[in-house]
Amino acid sequence: MVTRHVNFNPGPAALPLDVLRTVQDELLDYQGSGMSILESSHRGKEFEAINDEAIALVRELLGLGTDYHVLFLGGGASSQFALIPMNFVGAGQTAAYVDTGEFASKAMKECRNVAETHVAFSSKEEKYRRMPHMSEIKYPGDAAYLHICSNNTIEGTQFHEFPNTGNVPLVADMSSDIASRQLDYGQFSLFYAGAQKNLGPAGVTLVVIRDDFLATGNKGLPSILSYKTHADNKSLFNTPPVFGVYMMKLVLEWIRNNGGLAGMEKRNEAKKDLLYGAIDAAPDFYKGAAEKAGRSWMNVTMRLPSEDLENRFIADAKKEGLVGLKGHRSVGGIRFSIYNAVSLEEIEKTVDFMDRFHRSA
Ligand SMILES: *Cc1c(COP(=O)(O)O)cnc(C)c1O
Repeated sequence: MVTRHVNFNPGPAALPLDVLRTVQDELLDYQGSGMSILESSHRGKEFEAINDEAIALVRELLGLGTDYHVLFLGGGASSQFALIPMNFVGAGQTAAYVDTGEFASKAMKECRNVAETHVAFSSKEEKYRRMPHMSEIKYPGDAAYLHICSNNTIEGTQFHEFPNTGNVPLVADMSSDIASRQLDYGQFSLFYAGAQKNLGPAGVTLVVIRDDFLATGNKGLPSILSYKTHADNKSLFNTPPVFGVYMMKLVLEWIRNNGGLAGMEKRNEAKKDLLYGAIDAAPDFYKGAAEKAGRSWMNVTMRLPSEDLENRFIADAKKEGLVGLKGHRSVGGIRFSIYNAVSLEEIEKTVDFMDRFHRSA
């Protein structure tokens, strides 16, 4: 018997048990091929089928047409922070950024290294506790793009409405909420996500780019740094993160088998309602860290009356198998990362613990 914790790690994060079991079953002999997928050529028919299926699943689940290129790249979301301005800010152009958290700010910083950067909104002075009203986001009408971070993993805030940018391409870092809810993904010219929160293991990054935006990309970049290279080669320009793509395909199948994005949204809504409900039911003890309107469905952040109590909360929770609760070092407190693979039953168990902890404190 294997004992598994309730895993609130922010990333790499919990994976669906069904997926891990499939990986285990298939690890030594992938579907009768006589070898592990880890040992197979990325140009062989086994991996080619996996790559094609993963691309098709992304399009199917997110409701995208074939005018979207689906790429599986190495380098993490952080590489895209640099590659996006390199590829898409033309000579003399400005790129606009919405600064709603540490990752959003990192993306903006990378742009500053290569291009003129406009801050379209920032809640930094408010310690990133809130999200902007759409009318607060301001940028030049000829900006190369507007970049947002759809879910702020560290601070626990999320866009629940998106700016209508008209002719300015909308670009989003969706690392920590991709495929967690129904959304019009067609409003984005480019979006990307490191897999290690909602889609799979670390090591592979999903990048989705609409054809018309890709066509505006800068020429003359080193091949490996150009999105066009990877789009033209179905992510097989060089050896892709084979195992990550394989696992992402399994996670996407798991999402499809569990009701697709509608199913994920329903589950995630019930989870966050339960957890925020427990926080708000004890306002003198548990204090939500983010402003209510901007609360994230994926990363629930809270403070307790003292750091001492926070440390006890983390230690006592661990004794019950609830792990990964320490807030990011930059903000402290408690963070529950409740990505797709965390179940409603696990949140019920957590809420029960919170109630007992509060009464015993
Ligand atoms: C985790 C995370 C990143 C960093 O991803 P890496 O794959 O480590 O580069 C970037 N943006 C957001 C929103 C994240 O949650």
